[in-house]
Amino acid sequence: MSILVLGGAGYIGSHTVYELIDKGADVVIADNLETGHIEAVHPKARFYKGDIRSRGFVDNIFENEEIHAVIHFAANSLVGESMVDPLKYYDNNVCGTKVLLESMIAHDVKKIVFSSTAATYGEPENIPIMEDDRTCPTNTYGETKLAMEKMMKWTDAAHGLKYVALRYFNACGAHESGSIGEAHSPETHLIPLILQVPLNQREYISIFGDDYDTKDGTCIRDYIHVTDLAQAHILALKYLLDGGDSNIFNLGNGIGFTVKEVIETAKKVTGLEINAKIAPRRAGDPARLIASSDKAREVLGWNPQHADLEEIIASAWKWHSTHPHGFRKQEA
Ligand code: UDP
Repeated sequence: MSILVLGGAGYIGSHTVYELIDKGADVVIADNLETGHIEAVHPKARFYKGDIRSRGFVDNIFENEEIHAVIHFAANSLVGESMVDPLKYYDNNVCGTKVLLESMIAHDVKKIVFSSTAATYGEPENIPIMEDDRTCPTNTYGETKLAMEKMMKWTDAAHGLKYVALRYFNACGAHESGSIGEAHSPETHLIPLILQVPLNQREYISIFGDDYDTKDGTCIRDYIHVTDLAQAHILALKYLLDGGDSNIFNLGNGIGFTVKEVIETAKKVTGLEINAKIAPRRAGDPARLIASSDKAREVLGWNPQHADLEEIIASAWKWHSTHPHGFRKQEA
């Protein structure tokens, strides 16, 4: 019995595969390597290169392998890009998931853990955000993830496909081995961008707005270690395999840090100066996003082990300082 991880060569996907294999699971990875990295594919996983929008590609995996359940990370995930090229997001995220679900139903595979996002909420109604709060995405990325969740909901109603959607807050950090980590191109996330300053890859970090209604005027986010996210996927898988019903869970630490606090913590961790400049607000950024993850703790038994921001940034620093060019061959 194998677990199929779609997008298993990407950031959160590869970390989840490492944890699954650590626990003795047999893992099959599919990834089109558009944003994933072949170097991040675990050597013990069987790898299929291809695109989930191709029905033949997905059918072939279900026919060759004995797949018990699916973990689905295969999607585009850049908020800015999704606003410039929304149809790319509908095509890959929504159409890709439609093909996947059709193939799963045809092959009688009816359990799926799905990588969703806090962007499904949009501007929050309440802090901390609860799973049954209003979902009103402010960008195409969040809208497509919400559409994918809904597609699963109605596929469950019609065909009994059981899903768990995990709504992540700000994923960050890297595997403790230092062998895999975050490597986006272009990079848009706060922590890797901050760490480019002490790596002499950028002169300063831009702070997108210091006039928000927060304690120091900068945006507050809930930063969650990628290994803790990976563990939540394994618990969600177990929940489904034990007969759990379809469900949605937030994944965050329930603690918010401002952009300035993240920069200060990065200075402390690296022991190096990090120049920062105030820049205009970034479109679509809510002032604060903090998760209530009580439901994941209660129902899944999730218990994040790396909630400390210093530890999170230290793990990211270990990865970036030894892989300043990501997975590309390190230049001398
Ligand atoms: N941010 C920033 N400068 C940057 C990148 C991000 O000030 O160069 C801020 C951004 O406005 C947000 C927070 O850092 O308030 C986290 O942004 P990120 O893109 O990492 O994640 P998001 O919250 O958008 O998912």
